[in-house]
Amino acid sequence: MPEITNEIIIDKALELGFDLIGFAPAEKLTREVKNLKNWLRENRQAGMKYMEENLDKREDVSLILPGAKSVISLGVNYFTPYNHENKPDTGKLSRYAWGKDYHYLMWEMLEQLENYLRSLDSSFQTKSYVDTGPVMDRVWAEKAGLGWQGKNGNIISKEFGSWIFIATMITNFKFDYNLPAVDSCGTCTACIEACPTDAIVSERIIDSNRCISYLTIENKGEIPQEFIGKFNGWLFGCDICQDVCPWNKKFAKETEKDWFKPARGAELPLDMFEELSNRQFNRMFEESPIKRARAKGMRRNAGFLKKENVKPNE
Ligand code: SF4
Ligand code: SF4
Repeated sequence: MPEITNEIIIDKALELGFDLIGFAPAEKLTREVKNLKNWLRENRQAGMKYMEENLDKREDVSLILPGAKSVISLGVNYFTPYNHENKPDTGKLSRYAWGKDYHYLMWEMLEQLENYLRSLDSSFQTKSYVDTGPVMDRVWAEKAGLGWQGKNGNIISKEFGSWIFIATMITNFKFDYNLPAVDSCGTCTACIEACPTDAIVSERIIDSNRCISYLTIENKGEIPQEFIGKFNGWLFGCDICQDVCPWNKKFAKETEKDWFKPARGAELPLDMFEELSNRQFNRMFEESPIKRARAKGMRRNAGFLKKENVKPNE
């Protein structure tokens, strides 16, 4: 049986369809959790109460996996070369939601990777997450060298730009470690200037209360009236701060995965949500990230965009 090395993991991860793999020592994230606590104190998490939980585990992954030695960060490129058509009476979908839900694909890929590695050595333990879990996935991605956290908060890879999904695997084995990625935003402030709701309050500090992505997806309440006229037609999510990023213009590469090709286009008609029952919505978007907002949320978003479209005296 071969020993589990960086090369063994990288080869298998690439074979399974991951595009980026990096290794970081499972050190405590004391400074990062302090920053998170400041962000929480300023109520930047809005309604995402889960961000306030498990801060001890976010800081110390050995509270998740006793004996943790390393964190492996894995990325999947989802960029597809389509554009929004800005058709009348439609709303734009964030690029990550054009295809099928990435969680299903990445969970499957992670499980196959874990099973393979355990078949080589049954003492190899892991705890893996895709979004859902008390891990600071972007911090680990940066430490593992996948990319740096840009001023818009996203991880930017020099191979794919920021159009990547990230999975995090905590393990009890030691590896050779990557150097952390180096911040290459430089003097650029394009994302901060382009954000229509001033949600990027300072470098890497996003106020979810003002972010269209939060307001149209995680938000369970109404969208504040102060944002009428500022949504730029976004119905689910928002890509403005990524679309303007010069690194995305330079590094975006088409994904090889059909999974991320637009299932219903990059926009949806605003009227469709009024007509859909909850059950029809759930069936129609069963495989899509859009289900996260639920039928009620999408009706709200569509109604909000219609208010944006009303011209004075109409
Ligand atoms: S996703 Fe949109 S609203 Fe949120 S920070 Fe980026 S540009 Fe601003
Ligand atoms: S737009 Fe500029 S400042 Fe913003 S993340 Fe990209 S490089 Fe960094």
